[in-house]
Amino acid sequence: MKTEKMRLATRLIHAGEPEQPYGGAVSMPIFQSSTFLASEGTSYHDLKYIRLNNTPNHQVLHAKLAALENAEAALVTASGMAAITTSLLTLLKPGDHFLAQDCLYGGTLDFINQDLASLGITCDFLDYKRPETWKDKLRPNTRAIYTETITNPLMQVADLEQVIVFAGQYGLISMIDNTFASPVNFRPPEKGFDLSFHSCTKYLNGHSDIVAGAVIGRRELVEAVRRKLNHLGGSLDPHACFLLQRGLKTLAVRMAHHNRAAMTLAEFLAGHPAIEKVNYPGLSQDGHHLTASRLLDGYSGMLSFEIRGGPRQAVALIEALELPLCAPSLGGVESLITRPASTSHAGMSPQQRRAAGIRDQLIRVSVGLEDPSDLVADFRQALGKIF
Ligand SMILES: *Cc1c(COP(=O)(O)O)cnc(C)c1O
Repeated sequence: MKTEKMRLATRLIHAGEPEQPYGGAVSMPIFQSSTFLASEGTSYHDLKYIRLNNTPNHQVLHAKLAALENAEAALVTASGMAAITTSLLTLLKPGDHFLAQDCLYGGTLDFINQDLASLGITCDFLDYKRPETWKDKLRPNTRAIYTETITNPLMQVADLEQVIVFAGQYGLISMIDNTFASPVNFRPPEKGFDLSFHSCTKYLNGHSDIVAGAVIGRRELVEAVRRKLNHLGGSLDPHACFLLQRGLKTLAVRMAHHNRAAMTLAEFLAGHPAIEKVNYPGLSQDGHHLTASRLLDGYSGMLSFEIRGGPRQAVALIEALELPLCAPSLGGVESLITRPASTSHAGMSPQQRRAAGIRDQLIRVSVGLEDPSDLVADFRQALGKIF
């Protein structure tokens, strides 16, 4: 069957796999060789060498990841941050300006404010809720626009179709961090985004046991990023490639469960008297529900909520829960829980957090693959201990 004919769950298993399996192996072997035989006259970027991102383990992943988002090309990287930073460094040069959504992954925000700024690449942040104000931020040297599908930790969903229209109107390269949605729930290249980024550490691998990233999108841009990556050296090692390929095969069944389990937990929390607010775009009362429903095929496994009281109650709840593990990161089989004010957003001042809407009693959950009724029972017993 041609890849184009396959649905996503089938592509996860079969797209990009070698037509003639190596040695008859049903599972792709790990090519643990730094270098490969080369013939006279091969160009530098085509030599097979792990850092040049072109061993058999890389090639399978590139074809599979591109197929997942219906894109022309893809590239795996040593981490999500390697994907994001290498792409921004490829597409922007000193003197350039770009626009970004106002609530970004912390590592990306620091890279923009510190590293890119020190290179003379400047950024203005957009109020995603007010598209009519975006053009006021344009400058003659504005080159790109950067967004996230679902933001952390408030699970906001911007009008991404509007972003694409805006990028088209003003000739901007459009980039999006699609980590929180995964290709099961959203495929940015189908909507017209030039590049889509993933921390494959999260849903794509799904087992909290590697760090990896991906750049997916238009061929000429992905190839330019690959060349930069070849020099910067943020290449994924073959063993991590193998684990990512293995994890990817179950992405569709995992995401279906994450989507359903998060909805179940969000509904339970929204109906509990000790919970003041739940941020989950799947809930019909959520402010992002209409936009998310128009754009996404599922609402993902990430939610956050505010517990009645303050940080003391939030910490007590995290301690009283038996199933979710208190750890950063997300998208694995196990549920993870954090209090953003003391973890991911601890670097912001209390005033900055307040302005961003991140209260001290906000709790974020990456809903895992446990039975959702066990998770609900655990939250019920933990809340019962505190109130
Ligand atoms: C984790 C994460 C990253 C960074 O990915 P790493 O694999 O940790 O480098 C970037 N964006 C988002 C949205 C993330 O959740």
